[in-house]
Order: sequence, then structure tokens, then C-alpha cells
Amino acid sequence: MLGRLLLVLCSWAILAGCSVPIIYVKQDLGLGGRKITIPSGFTIVNESGRDIEEKMKAISDAVELGFETLKTCINDSEFPGQELKDVPLVLLPPEMLYVLGKKSAGFADGIRIYLRSDYIWASKLRHEWIHVYLWRTGRRAFGDIFHRDPLFKKCEYVLS
Ligand SMILES: [Zn+2]
Repeated sequence: MLGRLLLVLCSWAILAGCSVPIIYVKQDLGLGGRKITIPSGFTIVNESGRDIEEKMKAISDAVELGFETLKTCINDSEFPGQELKDVPLVLLPPEMLYVLGKKSAGFADGIRIYLRSDYIWASKLRHEWIHVYLWRTGRRAFGDIFHRDPLFKKCEYVLS
């Protein structure tokens, strides 16, 4: 598992040329974050450095709503629902985050989704799940880091 994670990260780092995610992953490997399983079965890892207790209901709702609307929008009879549910959602500090030189609210490495803890919205979650979906189903290399797949336009901002 660790070997696979590092391999993916190395691939990602070469493509992205950006060290910010690596810093966060190192923190995560330090296992400092608190893991919370929400009723819909997703795992949230709090690496934000903030107490998110009172935001948990809102986070939980956004995750559930975002996932259900994504599933409907993608409309794939082989939608890997459980596989996507098993991808932990790592909450990052509410600080500036640059991915591929652009200001970003989060990113996915195919194994985990990382999101700024102040950007836990259904649309942001759908965006990152689309990356993981494309990666895991093999439809796009590295989950389509340049957003060429039409699913981004079709499903990220679907009404929810
Ligand atoms: Zn993206």
C-alpha cells in the first residue's frame, strides 16, 4: 500500500512539478489526522489543524449529496461506488494551495482526495471524485489532471 502510494505520488509529482501536495502527504503519513467515518460510509481524515466537530453535519451532508448527484450524473452501470467511497477525504488547513501553478481548493492522487477544509462543497467533492473515477476506471491517465474529459463540464456543477 505504501509502495503504491509513493509510486503514485512520484508520478504525480513529476507531472505536476509542485511540492505542496507532497508536504501534506508527508503529514498524513505521520498519521496525525483524526479519522472520522460518517454515516454514508466515507472516511474523513482531519488534517486541517482545526476542530471540525460542529461542521461535521454540513460536511456529511455535502459528501452525501455530492456523491449521489455525481452517481446519477455519471450514469454508469458499472459505477465503482464502493471503491470511490473507500477513498478517504483528507481535509487540509484553510490556506492557499497551488496545484499545477494554479490556486486550488484541492486535488486527488487516485488514492485519496485532499480538500481545503473551508471548501467542502458538493461541487468541489464531485470534481475530485471525477478525477478518481477516471483514474480508477482507467479512462484517463492520472485521473485527467488537465480536465479534458467532458464529465467535468457535465457533472461538477450539476444542480444539487
Ligand atoms: Zn481538478
